[in-house]
Amino acid sequence: MTETTGPKATGTPGDGGEGFADCVHCGKPTEYPAARPGSTLCPVCAWQEAQRTACSG
Ligand SMILES: [Zn+2]
Repeated sequence: MTETTGPKATGTPGDGGEGFADCVHCGKPTEYPAARPGSTLCPVCAWQEAQRTACSG
């Protein structure tokens, strides 16, 4: 049994506050920190990218 009492994403999306990066594809806020290197994708776009990568070749 794991206790997950950690605070969930605090703050309202789209408030322009720093901390979380926006998806480079659709602009939606992601769960990744703004300091995250490379392109930041939301779960949806990340999944789509994974599908494209998987189909390459
Ligand atoms: Zn996206």
